[in-house]
Amino acid sequence: MTRRPLIVGNWKMHGTRAMLSEARAIDRAAQRNMKVEVALAPPYTLIHPIHREAEQIAVGAQDCHHAEGGAFTGDISAAMVADAGATFVILGHSERRLGHGESDALVRAKAEAALAAGLKIILCCGESAETRAAGKAAAFIKRQLKASLPPPEAMPADVGERLTIAYEPIWAIGTGTPATTEDIAEMHGLIRELMVELFGEEQGREVRILYGGSVKPENAAAIFAVPEVSGALVGGASLTADSLMGIALAASEPFDP
Ligand code: PEP
Repeated sequence: MTRRPLIVGNWKMHGTRAMLSEARAIDRAAQRNMKVEVALAPPYTLIHPIHREAEQIAVGAQDCHHAEGGAFTGDISAAMVADAGATFVILGHSERRLGHGESDALVRAKAEAALAAGLKIILCCGESAETRAAGKAAAFIKRQLKASLPPPEAMPADVGERLTIAYEPIWAIGTGTPATTEDIAEMHGLIRELMVELFGEEQGREVRILYGGSVKPENAAAIFAVPEVSGALVGGASLTADSLMGIALAASEPFDP
């Protein structure tokens, strides 16, 4: 399989127009490192301005509503983010599952809406520290993914291209300490098995599996050396061009995406 590694910056609720210069710097650096695909998921308000200027990077949203439109004050539909220039949407991030009470069923409905609007999806999964301590991480991730993904028959034929999974253990997000490479290897291995089980050998192996949780330029190379790691979903270290592109540089070394 020859697929470019993917590095996605999740800016969360950070960024006003003052951050556009950073997005420009990321775009310029991405043009100089064509071995790696770089994408940004800024707040909704910056999707269109970044899309308008970007020559290389893809721009996406951090969430979308599951309905096509209607009386949903404050919400934004998949078609709206696509209209603003987004080509993908992050769904099921633990900050939405925990902070906004998003259930697996809701994440699945959002995934269906996003795919119907022509977007690619980055579907997040991740266990809590308690679940891991109880030895239930593997079972939890399998169950969470099966319940959050549309059924295989509802997925597009090019699911390998349209779907990316992000494994983000909740206890590693924003803590400065990523999961160990052993834990990442185990979880990415089982997610790959699940993708093949659900979508077949060819498409299941095409789905990219990103690791997320305290990835930084200093630890990225070790994480990218783990089998079945196709890149990273990056929070805190995505806010400056220097650190995001430091991670992208580590991903441009030969590894198995
Ligand atoms: C995230 O929230 O998606 C994330 C990976 O955050 P951080 O890199 O800051 O741990």
